[in-house]
Amino acid sequence: MPADTTAVRIGPVRLGGGAPVVVQSMTNTDTADAAATAAQVAELAAAGSELVRITVNSAEAAARVAEIRARLDDMGIGVPLVGDFHFNGHKLLEQYPDCARALAKYRINPGNVGKGKRRDEQFARMIEIAAANDRPVRIGVNWGSLDQQVLARLMDENARRRQPLDSVALMHEAVVTSALESAAQAEAIGLPHDHIVLSCKMSGVQDLIAVYRTLAARCDYPLHLGLTEAGMGSKGIVASTAALSVLLQEGIGDTIRISLTPEPGGDRSQEVRVAQEILQALELRSFTPAVIACPGCGRTTSTFFQQLAGDIQAFLREQMPAWRTRYPGVETMKVAVMGCVVNGPGESRHADIGISLPGTGERPVAPVYEDGEKTVTLKGEDIAAQFQQRVSDYVARRYGKS
Ligand code: SF4
Repeated sequence: MPADTTAVRIGPVRLGGGAPVVVQSMTNTDTADAAATAAQVAELAAAGSELVRITVNSAEAAARVAEIRARLDDMGIGVPLVGDFHFNGHKLLEQYPDCARALAKYRINPGNVGKGKRRDEQFARMIEIAAANDRPVRIGVNWGSLDQQVLARLMDENARRRQPLDSVALMHEAVVTSALESAAQAEAIGLPHDHIVLSCKMSGVQDLIAVYRTLAARCDYPLHLGLTEAGMGSKGIVASTAALSVLLQEGIGDTIRISLTPEPGGDRSQEVRVAQEILQALELRSFTPAVIACPGCGRTTSTFFQQLAGDIQAFLREQMPAWRTRYPGVETMKVAVMGCVVNGPGESRHADIGISLPGTGERPVAPVYEDGEKTVTLKGEDIAAQFQQRVSDYVARRYGKS
Protein backbone atom coordinates (compact mmCIF):
# COMPACT_ATOMS: atom_id res chain seq x y z
CA MET A 1 0.00 0.00 0.00
CA PRO A 2 1.42 3.43 -0.87
CA ALA A 3 2.22 5.19 2.37
CA ASP A 4 4.64 7.99 1.79
CA THR A 5 2.74 10.27 -0.56
CA THR A 6 0.82 13.37 0.42
CA ALA A 7 -2.94 12.82 0.72
CA VAL A 8 -5.07 14.77 -1.79
CA ARG A 9 -8.85 15.12 -1.41
CA ILE A 10 -10.99 14.87 -4.54
CA GLY A 11 -14.50 15.43 -3.29
CA PRO A 12 -15.14 12.50 -0.96
CA VAL A 13 -12.24 10.47 -2.39
CA ARG A 14 -8.84 10.44 -0.69
CA LEU A 15 -5.87 9.84 -2.91
CA GLY A 16 -2.43 9.00 -1.52
CA GLY A 17 -1.21 9.23 2.06
CA GLY A 18 -1.70 5.47 2.52
CA ALA A 19 -5.30 5.40 1.23
CA PRO A 20 -6.28 2.33 -0.83
CA VAL A 21 -5.41 2.63 -4.53
CA VAL A 22 -8.31 4.39 -6.27
CA VAL A 23 -9.85 3.06 -9.50
CA GLN A 24 -10.68 5.61 -12.15
CA SER A 25 -11.88 5.64 -15.74
CA MET A 26 -12.73 8.00 -18.58
CA THR A 27 -15.80 8.43 -20.75
CA ASN A 28 -15.70 8.29 -24.55
CA THR A 29 -18.96 10.14 -25.17
CA ASP A 30 -19.14 13.68 -26.54
CA THR A 31 -19.24 15.78 -23.38
CA ALA A 32 -21.53 18.25 -25.18
CA ASP A 33 -24.11 15.44 -25.12
CA ALA A 34 -24.93 15.76 -21.43
CA ALA A 35 -27.47 12.91 -21.35
CA ALA A 36 -25.15 10.37 -22.98
CA THR A 37 -22.18 11.45 -20.88
CA ALA A 38 -24.12 11.33 -17.60
CA ALA A 39 -25.41 7.86 -18.57
CA GLN A 40 -21.90 6.58 -19.26
CA VAL A 41 -20.52 8.11 -16.06
CA ALA A 42 -23.34 6.34 -14.21
CA GLU A 43 -22.40 3.03 -15.88
CA LEU A 44 -18.73 3.44 -15.00
CA ALA A 45 -19.59 4.38 -11.42
CA ALA A 46 -21.89 1.36 -11.13
CA ALA A 47 -19.02 -0.84 -12.33
CA GLY A 48 -16.92 0.59 -9.48
CA SER A 49 -15.10 3.59 -10.91
CA GLU A 50 -14.38 5.91 -7.98
CA LEU A 51 -13.46 8.92 -10.14
CA VAL A 52 -14.58 9.51 -13.72
CA ARG A 53 -12.80 11.81 -16.15
CA ILE A 54 -14.57 13.57 -18.96
CA THR A 55 -12.96 15.53 -21.75
CA VAL A 56 -13.65 19.26 -21.74
CA ASN A 57 -12.49 20.14 -25.20
CA SER A 58 -14.83 22.86 -26.46
CA ALA A 59 -17.19 25.61 -25.38
CA GLU A 60 -20.13 23.27 -26.06
CA ALA A 61 -18.61 20.66 -23.74
CA ALA A 62 -17.73 23.14 -20.98
CA ALA A 63 -21.25 24.57 -21.13
CA ARG A 64 -22.76 21.15 -20.29
CA VAL A 65 -20.48 20.02 -17.45
CA ALA A 66 -22.65 21.51 -14.69
CA GLU A 67 -25.70 19.83 -16.25
CA ILE A 68 -23.87 16.47 -16.27
CA ARG A 69 -23.09 16.95 -12.57
CA ALA A 70 -26.72 17.84 -11.85
CA ARG A 71 -28.02 14.82 -13.78
CA LEU A 72 -25.74 12.53 -11.77
CA ASP A 73 -26.77 14.14 -8.48
CA ASP A 74 -30.42 13.63 -9.45
CA MET A 75 -29.65 9.92 -9.96
CA GLY A 76 -28.00 9.80 -6.53
CA ILE A 77 -24.56 9.26 -8.06
CA GLY A 78 -21.89 11.21 -6.25
CA VAL A 79 -18.83 10.02 -8.17
CA PRO A 80 -16.42 12.99 -8.56
CA LEU A 81 -15.91 14.26 -12.11
CA VAL A 82 -12.45 15.14 -13.39
CA GLY A 83 -12.12 17.52 -16.35
CA ASP A 84 -9.49 16.78 -18.99
CA PHE A 85 -8.12 20.00 -20.51
CA HIS A 86 -5.82 20.56 -23.47
CA PHE A 87 -4.94 23.64 -25.58
CA ASN A 88 -7.92 25.84 -24.57
CA GLY A 89 -8.42 24.87 -20.90
CA HIS A 90 -7.50 28.36 -19.63
CA LYS A 91 -10.28 29.93 -21.73
CA LEU A 92 -12.90 27.30 -20.92
CA LEU A 93 -12.28 27.40 -17.17
CA GLU A 94 -12.41 31.20 -17.24
CA GLN A 95 -15.49 31.51 -19.45
CA TYR A 96 -17.48 28.71 -17.77
CA PRO A 97 -17.18 29.16 -14.00
CA ASP A 98 -20.02 26.63 -13.47
CA CYS A 99 -17.88 24.05 -15.23
CA ALA A 100 -14.88 24.92 -13.03
CA ARG A 101 -17.05 24.43 -9.92
CA ALA A 102 -18.82 21.25 -11.10
CA LEU A 103 -15.51 19.46 -11.60
CA ALA A 104 -13.79 17.95 -8.55
CA LYS A 105 -10.35 17.94 -10.17
CA TYR A 106 -8.70 19.26 -13.32
CA ARG A 107 -6.24 17.35 -15.45
CA ILE A 108 -3.75 19.63 -17.16
CA ASN A 109 -1.23 18.39 -19.70
CA PRO A 110 1.76 20.75 -19.53
CA GLY A 111 2.73 19.78 -23.08
CA ASN A 112 -0.59 20.98 -24.48
CA VAL A 113 -1.00 24.32 -22.75
CA GLY A 114 0.57 26.65 -25.29
CA LYS A 115 3.96 27.77 -26.50
CA GLY A 116 6.62 30.17 -25.20
CA LYS A 117 5.47 32.99 -22.94
CA ARG A 118 1.82 32.14 -23.55
CA ARG A 119 2.42 28.64 -22.22
CA ASP A 120 3.37 30.03 -18.81
CA GLU A 121 0.50 32.53 -18.77
CA GLN A 122 -2.11 29.95 -19.78
CA PHE A 123 -0.80 27.36 -17.36
CA ALA A 124 -0.82 29.99 -14.59
CA ARG A 125 -4.42 30.97 -15.39
CA MET A 126 -5.63 27.37 -15.01
CA ILE A 127 -3.74 26.93 -11.76
CA GLU A 128 -5.15 30.21 -10.40
CA ILE A 129 -8.69 29.05 -11.19
CA ALA A 130 -8.02 25.68 -9.52
CA ALA A 131 -6.67 27.43 -6.41
CA ALA A 132 -9.60 29.88 -6.33
CA ASN A 133 -12.06 26.96 -6.50
CA ASP A 134 -10.04 24.85 -4.04
CA ARG A 135 -9.71 22.11 -6.67
CA PRO A 136 -6.78 19.71 -6.98
CA VAL A 137 -4.98 19.33 -10.30
CA ARG A 138 -3.37 16.37 -11.96
CA ILE A 139 -0.36 17.47 -13.90
CA GLY A 140 -0.51 14.77 -16.52
CA VAL A 141 2.51 14.48 -18.77
CA ASN A 142 2.17 12.19 -21.74
CA TRP A 143 5.15 11.11 -23.80
CA GLY A 144 3.13 11.64 -26.97
CA SER A 145 2.63 15.33 -26.15
CA LEU A 146 5.76 16.14 -24.16
CA ASP A 147 6.54 19.82 -23.55
CA GLN A 148 8.94 20.51 -26.44
CA GLN A 149 10.65 23.38 -24.60
CA VAL A 150 11.67 21.07 -21.76
CA LEU A 151 12.89 18.47 -24.23
CA ALA A 152 14.91 21.00 -26.25
CA ARG A 153 16.52 22.42 -23.11
CA LEU A 154 17.46 18.98 -21.77
CA MET A 155 18.87 17.96 -25.15
CA ASP A 156 21.11 21.05 -25.10
CA GLU A 157 22.25 20.30 -21.57
CA ASN A 158 22.82 16.68 -22.45
CA ALA A 159 24.98 17.60 -25.44
CA ARG A 160 27.29 19.51 -23.08
CA ARG A 161 27.72 16.58 -20.68
CA ARG A 162 30.91 14.58 -20.58
CA GLN A 163 28.87 11.41 -20.59
CA PRO A 164 25.58 12.22 -22.31
CA LEU A 165 22.49 10.17 -21.51
CA ASP A 166 21.33 7.84 -24.25
CA SER A 167 18.13 8.76 -26.05
CA VAL A 168 15.89 6.52 -23.89
CA ALA A 169 17.29 7.85 -20.61
CA LEU A 170 16.99 11.39 -21.94
CA MET A 171 13.34 10.77 -22.86
CA HIS A 172 12.64 9.47 -19.34
CA GLU A 173 14.38 12.46 -17.80
CA ALA A 174 12.42 14.88 -19.97
CA VAL A 175 9.07 13.38 -18.97
CA VAL A 176 9.88 13.43 -15.25
CA THR A 177 11.37 16.94 -15.43
CA SER A 178 8.30 18.27 -17.21
CA ALA A 179 6.03 16.93 -14.45
CA LEU A 180 8.18 18.10 -11.53
CA GLU A 181 8.89 21.57 -12.96
CA SER A 182 5.19 22.10 -13.72
CA ALA A 183 4.29 21.03 -10.18
CA ALA A 184 6.85 23.46 -8.71
CA GLN A 185 5.45 26.19 -10.96
CA ALA A 186 1.90 25.40 -9.78
CA GLU A 187 2.95 25.66 -6.13
CA ALA A 188 4.74 28.96 -6.82
CA ILE A 189 1.49 30.29 -8.32
CA GLY A 190 -0.41 29.35 -5.18
CA LEU A 191 -1.76 25.81 -5.56
CA PRO A 192 -1.15 23.99 -2.26
CA HIS A 193 1.20 21.00 -2.24
CA ASP A 194 -1.68 18.73 -1.21
CA HIS A 195 -3.69 19.75 -4.31
CA ILE A 196 -1.31 18.18 -6.82
CA VAL A 197 -1.30 14.69 -8.36
CA LEU A 198 1.26 13.70 -10.98
CA SER A 199 1.29 11.29 -13.89
CA CYS A 200 3.82 10.53 -16.62
CA LYS A 201 2.11 8.20 -19.04
CA MET A 202 4.15 6.16 -21.48
CA SER A 203 3.06 3.54 -23.98
CA GLY A 204 5.97 1.12 -23.35
CA VAL A 205 5.92 -1.14 -20.30
CA GLN A 206 9.62 -0.79 -19.44
CA ASP A 207 9.52 2.97 -20.06
CA LEU A 208 6.56 3.35 -17.70
CA ILE A 209 8.24 1.33 -14.95
CA ALA A 210 11.50 3.30 -15.23
CA VAL A 211 9.80 6.69 -15.29
CA TYR A 212 7.55 6.02 -12.31
CA ARG A 213 10.38 4.62 -10.22
CA THR A 214 12.26 7.87 -10.82
CA LEU A 215 9.20 10.01 -10.17
CA ALA A 216 8.38 8.20 -6.91
CA ALA A 217 11.97 8.65 -5.71
CA ARG A 218 11.96 12.38 -6.45
CA CYS A 219 8.64 13.59 -5.01
CA ASP A 220 5.88 12.81 -2.57
CA TYR A 221 2.93 13.83 -4.75
CA PRO A 222 0.36 11.05 -5.18
CA LEU A 223 0.86 9.30 -8.51
CA HIS A 224 -1.74 8.39 -11.12
CA LEU A 225 -0.60 5.24 -12.92
CA GLY A 226 -1.57 4.10 -16.35
CA LEU A 227 -0.06 2.76 -19.52
CA THR A 228 -1.22 5.12 -22.22
CA GLU A 229 -2.51 3.78 -25.54
CA ALA A 230 -2.47 0.26 -24.05
CA GLY A 231 -4.45 -1.08 -27.01
CA MET A 232 -7.32 -3.49 -27.55
CA GLY A 233 -8.34 -6.74 -25.95
CA SER A 234 -5.84 -9.08 -24.34
CA LYS A 235 -2.84 -7.06 -25.57
CA GLY A 236 -4.00 -3.96 -23.71
CA ILE A 237 -4.94 -5.90 -20.60
CA VAL A 238 -1.68 -7.85 -20.45
CA ALA A 239 0.55 -4.84 -21.11
CA SER A 240 -1.28 -2.72 -18.50
CA THR A 241 -1.18 -5.54 -15.97
CA ALA A 242 2.52 -6.20 -16.54
CA ALA A 243 3.47 -2.55 -16.05
CA LEU A 244 1.16 -1.69 -13.18
CA SER A 245 1.80 -4.88 -11.22
CA VAL A 246 5.53 -4.20 -10.96
CA LEU A 247 4.95 -0.65 -9.74
CA LEU A 248 2.04 -1.40 -7.40
CA GLN A 249 4.03 -4.24 -5.85
CA GLU A 250 6.74 -1.69 -5.05
CA GLY A 251 4.16 0.58 -3.41
CA ILE A 252 4.19 3.04 -6.32
CA GLY A 253 0.83 4.39 -7.49
CA ASP A 254 -2.16 5.89 -5.69
CA THR A 255 -4.76 5.69 -8.44
CA ILE A 256 -4.92 3.66 -11.66
CA ARG A 257 -6.65 3.90 -14.98
CA ILE A 258 -6.54 1.20 -17.66
CA SER A 259 -6.56 2.84 -21.10
CA LEU A 260 -8.19 0.07 -23.10
CA THR A 261 -9.47 0.67 -26.61
CA PRO A 262 -12.96 -0.88 -26.57
CA GLU A 263 -14.07 -3.13 -29.40
CA PRO A 264 -16.55 -1.31 -31.65
CA GLY A 265 -19.75 -1.13 -29.60
CA GLY A 266 -17.85 -2.72 -26.71
CA ASP A 267 -18.42 -2.15 -23.03
CA ARG A 268 -16.54 0.87 -21.64
CA SER A 269 -16.81 -0.55 -18.12
CA GLN A 270 -14.29 -3.25 -19.01
CA GLU A 271 -11.48 -0.87 -18.11
CA VAL A 272 -12.93 -0.55 -14.60
CA ARG A 273 -13.19 -4.31 -14.16
CA VAL A 274 -9.61 -4.84 -15.34
CA ALA A 275 -8.34 -2.19 -12.90
CA GLN A 276 -10.23 -3.88 -10.07
CA GLU A 277 -8.96 -7.31 -11.07
CA ILE A 278 -5.34 -6.11 -11.05
CA LEU A 279 -5.74 -4.66 -7.55
CA GLN A 280 -7.57 -7.75 -6.34
CA ALA A 281 -5.05 -10.18 -7.84
CA LEU A 282 -2.27 -8.27 -6.05
CA GLU A 283 -4.38 -8.48 -2.85
CA LEU A 284 -4.31 -4.69 -2.53
CA ARG A 285 -8.11 -4.39 -2.57
CA SER A 286 -11.18 -6.63 -2.89
CA PHE A 287 -14.12 -5.75 -5.10
CA THR A 288 -15.95 -8.91 -6.17
CA PRO A 289 -15.90 -12.49 -4.89
CA ALA A 290 -13.23 -14.46 -6.74
CA VAL A 291 -14.17 -17.49 -8.82
CA ILE A 292 -11.48 -20.16 -8.81
CA ALA A 293 -12.06 -22.33 -11.86
CA CYS A 294 -9.80 -25.02 -13.28
CA PRO A 295 -8.85 -24.72 -16.95
CA GLY A 296 -10.37 -28.11 -17.82
CA CYS A 297 -8.51 -30.89 -19.57
CA GLY A 298 -9.09 -34.28 -21.18
CA ARG A 299 -10.71 -35.57 -17.99
CA THR A 300 -13.75 -33.43 -18.67
CA THR A 301 -14.97 -33.41 -22.23
CA SER A 302 -18.12 -31.38 -21.58
CA THR A 303 -18.12 -27.59 -21.48
CA PHE A 304 -20.66 -27.66 -18.67
CA PHE A 305 -18.23 -26.57 -15.99
CA GLN A 306 -16.90 -23.72 -18.16
CA GLN A 307 -20.47 -22.57 -18.58
CA LEU A 308 -21.11 -22.87 -14.85
CA ALA A 309 -17.92 -20.96 -13.96
CA GLY A 310 -18.93 -18.18 -16.37
CA ASP A 311 -22.50 -18.10 -15.06
CA ILE A 312 -21.34 -17.93 -11.45
CA GLN A 313 -18.92 -15.12 -12.27
CA ALA A 314 -21.71 -13.16 -13.98
CA PHE A 315 -24.14 -13.94 -11.14
CA LEU A 316 -21.69 -12.63 -8.52
CA ARG A 317 -21.08 -9.43 -10.49
CA GLU A 318 -24.81 -8.84 -10.89
CA GLN A 319 -25.43 -9.31 -7.17
CA MET A 320 -22.56 -7.10 -6.00
CA PRO A 321 -24.28 -3.69 -6.15
CA ALA A 322 -26.89 -4.97 -3.66
CA TRP A 323 -24.59 -7.33 -1.74
CA ARG A 324 -21.93 -4.64 -1.18
CA THR A 325 -24.14 -2.78 1.29
CA ARG A 326 -26.16 -5.71 2.65
CA TYR A 327 -23.30 -8.13 3.15
CA PRO A 328 -20.08 -6.36 4.14
CA GLY A 329 -17.01 -8.51 3.51
CA VAL A 330 -18.64 -10.56 0.74
CA GLU A 331 -16.12 -9.11 -1.76
CA THR A 332 -13.41 -11.27 -0.17
CA MET A 333 -15.35 -14.54 -0.69
CA LYS A 334 -13.77 -17.28 -2.82
CA VAL A 335 -15.97 -19.59 -4.91
CA ALA A 336 -14.45 -22.67 -6.55
CA VAL A 337 -15.90 -24.28 -9.69
CA MET A 338 -13.84 -27.35 -10.56
CA GLY A 339 -14.08 -29.80 -13.42
CA CYS A 340 -13.39 -33.22 -11.87
CA VAL A 341 -12.43 -35.22 -8.85
CA VAL A 342 -8.63 -34.74 -9.29
CA ASN A 343 -8.37 -31.23 -7.80
CA GLY A 344 -12.07 -30.48 -7.36
CA PRO A 345 -12.68 -31.53 -3.75
CA GLY A 346 -9.34 -30.13 -2.52
CA GLU A 347 -9.73 -26.74 -4.19
CA SER A 348 -13.40 -26.56 -3.15
CA ARG A 349 -12.48 -27.24 0.47
CA HIS A 350 -10.00 -24.35 0.42
CA ALA A 351 -12.59 -21.94 -1.01
CA ASP A 352 -15.42 -20.47 1.07
CA ILE A 353 -17.88 -22.38 -1.09
CA GLY A 354 -17.04 -24.70 -3.96
CA ILE A 355 -18.43 -27.31 -6.27
CA SER A 356 -16.64 -30.26 -7.84
CA LEU A 357 -18.35 -31.28 -11.06
CA PRO A 358 -18.26 -34.80 -12.49
CA GLY A 359 -15.53 -35.46 -15.03
CA THR A 360 -15.85 -37.93 -17.90
CA GLY A 361 -16.79 -41.37 -16.59
CA GLU A 362 -17.41 -40.13 -13.04
CA ARG A 363 -20.77 -40.51 -11.28
CA PRO A 364 -23.04 -37.61 -12.37
CA VAL A 365 -23.04 -35.94 -8.97
CA ALA A 366 -21.47 -32.71 -7.75
CA PRO A 367 -20.42 -32.39 -4.10
CA VAL A 368 -20.58 -28.90 -2.62
CA TYR A 369 -18.21 -27.77 0.13
CA GLU A 370 -18.87 -24.85 2.46
CA ASP A 371 -16.18 -23.62 4.86
CA GLY A 372 -14.16 -26.77 4.15
CA GLU A 373 -16.95 -29.26 4.82
CA LYS A 374 -19.01 -31.23 2.33
CA THR A 375 -22.57 -30.02 2.84
CA VAL A 376 -24.59 -31.48 -0.01
CA THR A 377 -24.26 -33.47 -3.22
CA LEU A 378 -26.13 -31.95 -6.15
CA LYS A 379 -27.53 -34.03 -8.99
CA GLY A 380 -29.98 -33.69 -11.81
CA GLU A 381 -30.41 -31.33 -14.75
CA ASP A 382 -30.36 -28.06 -12.79
CA ILE A 383 -27.11 -28.32 -10.85
CA ALA A 384 -26.24 -24.75 -11.94
CA ALA A 385 -29.42 -23.24 -10.50
CA GLN A 386 -29.12 -25.30 -7.32
CA PHE A 387 -25.53 -24.16 -6.81
CA GLN A 388 -26.42 -20.49 -7.38
CA GLN A 389 -29.08 -20.79 -4.70
CA ARG A 390 -26.58 -22.36 -2.30
CA VAL A 391 -24.17 -19.48 -2.95
CA SER A 392 -26.94 -16.94 -2.21
CA ASP A 393 -27.89 -18.75 1.00
CA TYR A 394 -24.25 -19.00 2.04
CA VAL A 395 -23.71 -15.26 1.49
CA ALA A 396 -26.82 -14.32 3.49
CA ARG A 397 -25.82 -16.64 6.35
CA ARG A 398 -22.15 -15.75 6.49
CA TYR A 399 -22.14 -12.03 5.67
CA GLY A 400 -25.64 -10.92 6.66
CA LYS A 401 -25.81 -8.35 9.44
CA SER A 402 -27.25 -9.80 12.61
S1 SF4 B 1 -9.63 -30.38 -11.89
FE1 SF4 B 1 -9.93 -32.16 -13.28
S2 SF4 B 1 -10.84 -31.28 -15.12
FE2 SF4 B 1 -9.96 -29.56 -13.99
S3 SF4 B 1 -7.93 -29.35 -14.92
FE3 SF4 B 1 -7.70 -30.60 -13.06
S4 SF4 B 1 -7.81 -32.71 -13.81
FE4 SF4 B 1 -8.62 -31.41 -15.46
